[in-house]
Amino acid sequence: MNSVLFPLGPLETNCYLLHTDSRALIIDVGGDPAQVLDYLRQHNLTLTHILCTHLHFDHTFGVQALIRATGATAYASDKDRFLLEDRSMGIPPVEKYAFVNLEAGPLPLLGTTCLVLPTPGHTPGGLSFHFPEYLAVFAGDCLFYRSIGRTDFAGGDFATLAASIRTQIFTLPGETIVYPGHGPHTGVEEEKIHNPYLGSAA
Ligand SMILES: [Zn+2]
Repeated sequence: MNSVLFPLGPLETNCYLLHTDSRALIIDVGGDPAQVLDYLRQHNLTLTHILCTHLHFDHTFGVQALIRATGATAYASDKDRFLLEDRSMGIPPVEKYAFVNLEAGPLPLLGTTCLVLPTPGHTPGGLSFHFPEYLAVFAGDCLFYRSIGRTDFAGGDFATLAASIRTQIFTLPGETIVYPGHGPHTGVEEEKIHNPYLGSAA
């Protein structure tokens, strides 16, 4: 499996493209997906899944454009559906898109298994996508390099977020790489030791 990172949109949200020789999936689309579409064409890839870690505007700006261009299906948690109507972040509305509810549990993707982890706290429907075979977890705005997601937006809750990180992310093998929604990647073990927001978590 190959992975490519495209920071998209005004907040440079990490858009991850994972693919085999023929099929691809996308995690979060925070802006114009033109670069992603170029890559898919150049590599002759069929995009099947658009996985949304959560439904904040800066992770979903390009979802409908990508659906329109590829026919792929978007997936997210129904618990974030209320955010489609949320204007509290004071931004222009995101183009409407349809998505299929994704429950926690195993999901066969790209010839491997993706474990969908419930990681609420930044938003109620926050999901992380764990690929055990590749020792990788895509954590959205749950856990960042030396930081954690904000909990002051609609539906955010610090205790819930801290519990998500402790029970869902910090229980993964220590060498698992954490690919967050913004900024550089990090590791489970090193965040257990060095994350300043979760001092008692390790
Ligand atoms: Zn967010």
